[in-house]
Amino acid sequence: MLGYWSYTSPYRNMIVGVDTKVPLSNGNSSTYINFDNAATTPPFVSVLKEIIDFSPWYSSINRGKGYKSQISSNLYENSRKIVLNFVKADEKYNTVIYVKNTTEGINKLSYRLCDKNNECVILSTNMEHHSNDLPWRDKYKLDYIKLDKNGRLSMEDLEQKLINYKGNVKLVTISGASNVTGFLNPIYDVARLAHQYAAKILVDGAQLVPHVPMDMKNQDSLEHIDFLVFSAHKMYAPFGIGVLIGPKEIFKKGEPHYKGGGTVDFVTHDYVIWNDPPNNEEAGTPNVMGVIALVAAINTLNQIGMNNIESYENALLRYTVSALKNIEDVELYGDLDNLNNKVAIIPFNIKGIHHSKVAEILSSKAGIAVRTGCFCAQPYVQELLNISKEESLNFIKDSKQKRPGMIRASFGLYNSFFEIDYFINVLKHIVKNKNLYIN
Ligand code: PMP
Repeated sequence: MLGYWSYTSPYRNMIVGVDTKVPLSNGNSSTYINFDNAATTPPFVSVLKEIIDFSPWYSSINRGKGYKSQISSNLYENSRKIVLNFVKADEKYNTVIYVKNTTEGINKLSYRLCDKNNECVILSTNMEHHSNDLPWRDKYKLDYIKLDKNGRLSMEDLEQKLINYKGNVKLVTISGASNVTGFLNPIYDVARLAHQYAAKILVDGAQLVPHVPMDMKNQDSLEHIDFLVFSAHKMYAPFGIGVLIGPKEIFKKGEPHYKGGGTVDFVTHDYVIWNDPPNNEEAGTPNVMGVIALVAAINTLNQIGMNNIESYENALLRYTVSALKNIEDVELYGDLDNLNNKVAIIPFNIKGIHHSKVAEILSSKAGIAVRTGCFCAQPYVQELLNISKEESLNFIKDSKQKRPGMIRASFGLYNSFFEIDYFINVLKHIVKNKNLYIN
């Protein structure tokens, strides 16, 4: 059943805090089990070490001429190449813009895409995180690519929409992997189609980049990815940094949305010459520590090998899904026959017990952390739960009604089969003693 992996993760000692004990409701304590990695991951040991080692050299960057400033500036600027290499982005063409997180990266791009916004169409999908939906709504004509009955992207609908909008689609923006179902989208098929219809593609890489090898591909390829965003706090480097990668040219035209120190080359009271990208898009004092953490995380992920991470996490996924399928009253969502095209995110419910109650029991009785609710992807969860538009409106009208949702277990490279067995046993206990918990 476990293949050649041991019962624990081979990468467990690379993570800070895996042995932390948390209090339980019975007065005992238990080693914390974190199955909420899709929200955020704990730091790598190597990341903390690098932060400490670098701290004596930390200084102002890009402006100071002091020795430490030079060191800090060089590390900051050279890091962009490391990031580009990590996701195999075409260096000649692309720039790396540092942001706070995925949300900020998408918002930033949403101000840059079209000269006359109302003439541009953006295609998002019915499975997006709110961060890849709301920033587009108030600026462009936004349409959503439909999903099939399993909740996967419909390529037929994408093509039909590209045809119907007659060359006006500027951008197709999709998650690389869903934060609800873990489904991996066929980003290269989407890229090929988008480019055939003169559109660009943005991949929201928040759930993709930490879990599978990423290749943005050469600019000459029809399958290249034009824009990629991701957050370091989901890849073991929680120091407030994220990345937006895209063609330099896009960020050269017009004015940056955020203006201030660092964005300009020359200023008088009447005149401004903006810096070239990426500096014009990085207003204010840059997050050097965030970049140090990100580079350390990339180095560690590269040492482990993204292919190894993908295989290990896929084994955790398969093991858990097959165990969950055998628990009566556990309802699983999405396509469970095709676990190859999925990162290790599992949404489920226990029939008859509200999702938030299950999460509360897991935490208070067993020290297991999961996420519940709609995971900032409410339209997608409503679709997976077959909740109609009319039913959704009732929740708006009656704020006291218990909200629908799911429980989400999401794994990182340090999670173990041992933790999963414990989790499955606790779920069995909850199902068996359901009448104690029904409310
Ligand atoms: N997109 C997806 C698919 C996500 O899972 C998340 C985080 N839950 C985000 C965007 C937003 O990421 P952040 O909070 O780091 O901006």
